[in-house]
Amino acid sequence: MKLEGIHHITCITGDAPRNVDFYARLMGLRLVKKSVNQDDPTVYHLFFGDEDGAPGNDLTFFEYPGARPGRAGTGMIHRIVWRVGSSDAVAFWEERLGGEGVSTERENGSLVFKDPEGLEHELAVRDVPDAPLIAHSSEVPDEHALQGFDTVCAYTADPERSRPLLEEALGFERTEGDEWEARGSERGGRVRYEVNTERGAPGAGTVHHVAWASHMDDQIEWRERVAHLGAQPTPVIDRYWFRSVYFREPSGVLFEVATMGPGFTVDEPIETLGERLTLPPDYEPFRERLEQVLTPLPDTRQWRAAPAERN
Ligand code: ZN
Repeated sequence: MKLEGIHHITCITGDAPRNVDFYARLMGLRLVKKSVNQDDPTVYHLFFGDEDGAPGNDLTFFEYPGARPGRAGTGMIHRIVWRVGSSDAVAFWEERLGGEGVSTERENGSLVFKDPEGLEHELAVRDVPDAPLIAHSSEVPDEHALQGFDTVCAYTADPERSRPLLEEALGFERTEGDEWEARGSERGGRVRYEVNTERGAPGAGTVHHVAWASHMDDQIEWRERVAHLGAQPTPVIDRYWFRSVYFREPSGVLFEVATMGPGFTVDEPIETLGERLTLPPDYEPFRERLEQVLTPLPDTRQWRAAPAERN
């Protein structure tokens, strides 16, 4: 039984329209689901991903309108590392982001930058067998597209505290230093710890949690294993597109184990994923009112590549 790398990463935005512009236009991701917070249907939960909305390239945002920028501290993820295909892709992004006034830095061949709310990203060339998970955008050539998640970087007071849960319960293997990998038969993803005891502040531009991908039938056993190691997992929660179990790992990072299915096409055709507001069944009677109070968003269809342009 193995986890198949990172399933999704969920963050916070205080400015949903700008968020959509940044990730769907500038970064070339596909808005694969436009939904609402299951606890508060007057704010969005937005999901960006690859063409198919596959686990492994799924960056999601809770909208807290007007939220102040937060700051990553101990027990929080402070950087998301994405895979890109080549050093040419790194150069492409350096120019594309620079052209929009986003400052970038080179770091060991990678490109590091922040989104408009301060969420830090790294684009890295990695030698992995995983299939690239890309979206077809009219703005970003396929060969330069983001190919999915590689690593989340987290702050901790002591990486050793997380080791037993990672290795004994979740099947991660130490790759180097304070970095561990969950690698399954199809994909792998990593968590890297850096010592930092400063207190963070949740808010716009911070990561809420990282989800690891579980095969459909394994989730209950993952839940039992983490409980056995002393974590306190939630019951299995139905998120419609996947099922979730949440727990804090010993460094304080909120982890989720999410099933790889049924996926985003369970309630929308793949051709029009994310174009219509998707509501949980209980909120469907309030669709008209909710559509009036939710923040208007840019139409992401304008940035989608026409089928003939895809390669
Ligand atoms: Zn999640």
